[in-house]
Amino acid sequence: MATMINVNGTLTPGEQAVVPVLDHGFLYGDGVYEVCRTYNGRLFLYDRHMRRLRRSAGMIALDVLFTDEEVAARIDATLAAAELSRPGVTGPDAYVRIVLTRGVGDLSYDPGACPQPSLVIIVKPHVAPAPDVYDLGVRVALVPVARNHPDTINPLIKSNNLLNNALAMQHALRQGAFEAVMRNLRGDISECSQSNLFVVRDGTVLTPPLASGLLAGITREFVFEIARAIDAPAAETRLRDRDLLEADEAFLTSTTREIVPIVLVDEHRIGTGHPGPVTRALLEAFRARADALTRGTGAHTPAFSA
Ligand code: PMP
Repeated sequence: MATMINVNGTLTPGEQAVVPVLDHGFLYGDGVYEVCRTYNGRLFLYDRHMRRLRRSAGMIALDVLFTDEEVAARIDATLAAAELSRPGVTGPDAYVRIVLTRGVGDLSYDPGACPQPSLVIIVKPHVAPAPDVYDLGVRVALVPVARNHPDTINPLIKSNNLLNNALAMQHALRQGAFEAVMRNLRGDISECSQSNLFVVRDGTVLTPPLASGLLAGITREFVFEIARAIDAPAAETRLRDRDLLEADEAFLTSTTREIVPIVLVDEHRIGTGHPGPVTRALLEAFRARADALTRGTGAHTPAFSA
């Protein structure tokens, strides 16, 4: 029950897995990835993650030579080797990272230099944030590192080229913050280094539009569906700093973190300084729906059979 890595079909324990130095994923960050997780031993929203992987790959002219079922079969084999839960087998839930790179080739930016993409699957036990994160909320930092302009490396591409995000998070870590909130070059809030950002104002759930330059988070999209289910109005809108600082509630979303209440932005208190009622209701509804969709033969896990 440890990290297990599948490199082009070969299974290796985490600390021993290697990729060739001439893989353009290593040399240039030339590749795309997805992070999904299991609930009840089933991949959650796998079809949506694979759709986004194909979209990301298409935006860097990288062919995905695998069907969703083929990738799912490799994930299943890797989960089995790691002794993690999967359909029909109980155990700890899993973090699953799917990495697709340009592959091995001569030192050149020409995609033609790499005849064969590499597919790497990393699985390990899913480690949920501590209960306090949800019960008390977290502090985030507004950082000076701007999110990539869409004409540079478009944030819609879930790219292995992660230095923009890493530099933003370095600022947050230096301040002991849980996450880094980034603005775009116009000064609008875009997203966090590893998650999307929402605020709640007068009962309405608000998040920046994709045009603000951000990743189309799977959890972000799911929150809109959950909001409808609990009758909370939700909309996309441009957000400036003061919209965050003066919000009644704020939260961040991601596959591995679900919905995390934000109670401080730097030293500025958000709302009452405690997780708010809309955030709590969304988290509760999110978990109930994730559980329901991964029990039995959930429609969102078509790649797996029990
Ligand atoms: N934005 C960025 C930059 C991310 O890295 C992530 C994590 N994948 C997210 C948002 C949240 O996306 P998701 O809900 O699909 O995990």
